[in-house]
Amino acid sequence: MTPISRRMFLAGSVAVVITACSNSKSSGTPTTATADSTTDPGSSTTTPAGEATTLPTTSLAPLDIPGDPFTLGVASGDPDATSVVLWTRLAPEPSTTGGGMPDGLAVDVVWEASSSAAFTTIEHSGTSVAIAASAHSVHVVAELAPGTWHYRFRAGQYTSPVGTTRVAPPRGEATAVARFATMSCQHFEEGWYVAHRDLAAQRPDFAVFLGDYIYEDGASPLLPGGAVRSHGAPEPVTLDEYRNRYGLYKSDTDLQAAHAACPWFVIWDDHEVENDYASLSPQDPAEAGGFAARRLAAYQAWWEHMPVRLPAPTDPTAEYRIYRDAVWGDLVGLALLDGRQYRTDQACGGAVLNLAPACPEVTSPGRTMTGDDQERWLLDTLGSWGTTWNAVGNQTVMSDATFNRAVLNYDQWDGYPEQRARILQHLSDAEVANVVVLTGDIHLAAVGQLRAGAPGVGTPVGVELVTSSISSSGLIDTSFQGLLRTFPDLIDAELVHRGYILHTVTPQRWSADYRIVADAKDPASNVSTYRTYLIDAGSPTARAA
Ligand code: FE
Ligand code: CA
Repeated sequence: MTPISRRMFLAGSVAVVITACSNSKSSGTPTTATADSTTDPGSSTTTPAGEATTLPTTSLAPLDIPGDPFTLGVASGDPDATSVVLWTRLAPEPSTTGGGMPDGLAVDVVWEASSSAAFTTIEHSGTSVAIAASAHSVHVVAELAPGTWHYRFRAGQYTSPVGTTRVAPPRGEATAVARFATMSCQHFEEGWYVAHRDLAAQRPDFAVFLGDYIYEDGASPLLPGGAVRSHGAPEPVTLDEYRNRYGLYKSDTDLQAAHAACPWFVIWDDHEVENDYASLSPQDPAEAGGFAARRLAAYQAWWEHMPVRLPAPTDPTAEYRIYRDAVWGDLVGLALLDGRQYRTDQACGGAVLNLAPACPEVTSPGRTMTGDDQERWLLDTLGSWGTTWNAVGNQTVMSDATFNRAVLNYDQWDGYPEQRARILQHLSDAEVANVVVLTGDIHLAAVGQLRAGAPGVGTPVGVELVTSSISSSGLIDTSFQGLLRTFPDLIDAELVHRGYILHTVTPQRWSADYRIVADAKDPASNVSTYRTYLIDAGSPTARAA
C-alpha cells in the first residue's frame, strides 16, 4: 500500500525513523531503529481501547532550551486500518537555523494517545528520539484501535497542544460515509489561512493536501494591495533555508488547527522545491548545476515537516517515492500521485496563455507526467481496492482545457496529451467505475469532465474536482471566468475566490461543497459554500445541487 512496508517502521510496536546521515547529506543511508524507549512500547500500545488503564507517566529530565519547543503544533497522517503517523517537531525558534535547538542534543519525546480529550486515561504511549539530523522532528507510527483519538507529545518540562486523529475503517468494511477535505496552494505572503480555520471547524474525517504547501518565491507583484505578510527571507536553496520556510508556515495557528483536527494525506507539487521544476530540470536552465542538491534539500525538509509514512530521502538523484495509496473501508480508494519528480520537462518552453496552436513537441513520444513505473502502478491500483469510489489525488488539471488547439498551460495535463489519453482510455476499456480526480495547483475552483476521446464528444470516464487555493492569488484574470465555462470539458469554473473542497461521500453519492473565502486578505473573512456538486454512483458526470 505504501512504498515502504509497515515492517520497516515497526520493530516491536513503536519505532521511530532515525536518519543516520548527517546534515551534509553527502553520505549515509536511512536506518530504522526501535525507539530508545523508557517505557515498554510493546505492552503500552496494545492496551485495548476503552480499557480503563492509565499508563504510568514518564518523567522527563528538564530541557535547557530557549523556550516551549512545540511552536509548530502537532499533526497526524497516512492512517491505515491499524495505525496512523503522529508528527511534531521541536523548534522553540522555528524560523532560525536549527529551530533554536542545540545541534548535538538528542531529546526523548513521549507521545500519548487517549480516548478522552482531557487525557483522563492514556491508553497508548511510547517514546521517540528527536535528533538534529531530522530537524528534531518525530514521526511515530501509532497503532490505534478504531475510533477517535486525542494525542499529544511531551519533551522535558513541556507538553504539546492536543491533536485529534483516527485510523481508517478496514479495507472492505461497510462504511456509510466519509467526510474529507482537499486543499492546495497556501502562499504565506498572499493571504491568511481562513480556509484552514473553516476546515478545522468542520472536523472532517481526514484531509488531502495536493501540493504547494510552501512557496519558494515571494508574493506576486500583481497582487492587489500587496502582500499581507512576509517570508522575511530570500528564496530557499539550502536545507536550513527550506527548514526555516516550513517553520514559518507551520507557525500559523490556523494551519496548526487544520492539522490538529484530523489526519492528512500529503503530496507535493512544484513550489515545495521551485516553480515548474520537472524531474532534475529547474525552472531556469542556468541553475541546473546545483539543482539536484537543492531538490534533495527541499525533499528532506518536506519529509521532516509532513506527517507522512515515508522514510527520509537520501540521494540527490535517486528516486524518492512518495506516490502511494490509501483505502477508507469499502467506500473510497485514493491513489496519491507525484506529478513532478518523474515528468518530462514542459513542452514548448512552458509557455502560458499562448494562443498559438500547440507546438509539435507536445505530442512527441515518451512525454510523461508520472514516469512509466508510476503510470503502470496507477493503472494497476485504480479499481483494485474493492471500493465504491476510485479517487486520484493529483497535482495539475487533467481535464482538457485547450482552446482552439492552443495549450494554455503546458505545465498541466494538456502538455502531456498522449499519456493522458492512454490513462483515460484505460479507464474506459477496463470499465473502472466512479472515478473522481482531485486536483489543485491552478488557484481556481473548477469541475471538469474527464473523457476517453476528444474534448466534448469522447466517452465520459470520470469527474475532476479542482480546488481553489487556500491563499495563493489567482493566476488567471477573473474576466476569463465566462470563457472558461464555455470550454466543453469544464462544467464550472470559479476564479474569484480562495477556498477548499469539503467532500461528503456515501455509497450512493459523492457531494462536493466548494467552500470559498470572501476575502483571503481579511483574517476575519467569512467562509461560505459557492456551490455543491453531486456525482451519483454509477454516473461518470457531475451536476450542481
Ligand atoms: Fe500553487
Ligand atoms: Ca503548482
